Amino acid sequence: MPETTISTPIHDTVILGSGCAGLTAAIYTGRANLKPLVLEGHEPGGQLSITTLVENFPGWPEGVQGPDLIENMKQQATRFGAELRMAHLDAVDLTSHPITLRVGKETIHTRTLIIASGASARWLNLPSEQALIGHGVTSCATCDGFFARGKEIAVIGGGDTAMEEALFLTRFATKVTLINRSENFRASKIMLDRAMAHPQIEFLSNTTVEEVLGVEEKDVKGLRLKNRVSGAESILPVAFMFLAIGHIPNASAFKGMVDLDDDGYIKTTHNVFTTHNGTILPGVFACGDIQDRRYRQAITAAGSGCMAALEVEKYLEERGH
Ligand code: NAP
Repeated sequence: MPETTISTPIHDTVILGSGCAGLTAAIYTGRANLKPLVLEGHEPGGQLSITTLVENFPGWPEGVQGPDLIENMKQQATRFGAELRMAHLDAVDLTSHPITLRVGKETIHTRTLIIASGASARWLNLPSEQALIGHGVTSCATCDGFFARGKEIAVIGGGDTAMEEALFLTRFATKVTLINRSENFRASKIMLDRAMAHPQIEFLSNTTVEEVLGVEEKDVKGLRLKNRVSGAESILPVAFMFLAIGHIPNASAFKGMVDLDDDGYIKTTHNVFTTHNGTILPGVFACGDIQDRRYRQAITAAGSGCMAALEVEKYLEERGH
């Protein structure tokens, strides 16, 4: 497709998102001298920036703190000429060539786009929960754990994140009740065993949260729970509710422009090529959690960021840039 004539500079590549995938793509495209522009997005640093110890990222035998890993990646990307900007995408036209992005009042043109905007925390979407976000309801244990000092709290979820957060929160809270809506847990055995062995963590399975109490007081006072098997309701007096029930892909800006699956993840072919109506979209690549509902690991996100960057290089080279 011929490029439209425009007066503003055209970037070789713009990367949306600054988590593991986006920053790895920035390191690779930076090293390829493509001067990537990284729009850091709503959650700079992505999910690793609000996690604690990462024990399974190769190269750190003792583990590494998520925010430290991200900070190192940022420094590495910047060293190779990446520009990191605290901004987020307002609108995009993927059909124009160059691709057009609107960021606030600014219009940005780019030959290629790497979508690495990740996924955001899922909420229960109860009115009482929404009313108490920031007043005892939170999805960030790292950010808010300290405030739970000396209190009894609840963690919602049954995956690795829930186990990790429950364990982390025992540093502050006197008691952690982990509430899982299903009979079985999605968490890996090692994480589940660790949490189950901890004397401060209690488990409630087959249990849903029906209401967060304390809306009038603007402070969480407890949870109204329901046992899904017996139907019995109960009140759990807790001062905090930490959500750890998975994530929703941040792909709404691309709806109608790229193929999404039923849960809103970007569909890719050959790992990082985006499609529209099944046909490859030229110059638009996706990597990390926005296109990965299966593995969702820091290392797989980084790997796909690398792949997207290599495809960008190839794409530009083939077009003589
Ligand atoms: P996840 O594995 O998808 O688990 C989500 C949990 O939330 C499930 O227990 C699910 O219950 C529950 N849930 C979802 N929607 C809910 C709702 N509306 N109400 C109540 N419960 C709900 O998510 P994750 O724990 O965030 O983990 C994501 C990925 O990151 C996984 O691949 C995990 O292995 C990885 N991870 C790894 C580590 C580590 O290795 N250190 C740490 C954290 C995360 P159901 O089972 O009933 O659907």
